Amino acid sequence: MGIRTLRVAVILIGVMPSGAALITMLIIDRPLCLDCIAERTNMSVPRVEEYLGVIRGSLTVYHEAYDRCRACGRSAKVVSLDQPL
Ligand SMILES: [Zn+2]
Repeated sequence: MGIRTLRVAVILIGVMPSGAALITMLIIDRPLCLDCIAERTNMSVPRVEEYLGVIRGSLTVYHEAYDRCRACGRSAKVVSLDQPL
């Protein structure tokens, strides 16, 4: 993670609900499926979806696609953040 990315992440943590900020950190430069995000954050999938809604509304770099999850390797809906700025 580059210094610019880190700075953006720090800003986000200040303005977002902590759950959304946590997810943001997880998916920067690394597309993950909802199951893996839920597992890593100890949240339920519906809760993850809820926070993704917050992130989607806040970040233009938010990206959703059908792709391979970088954590579990399954093909599924994955979410990620494109390199900001
Ligand atoms: Zn996964």
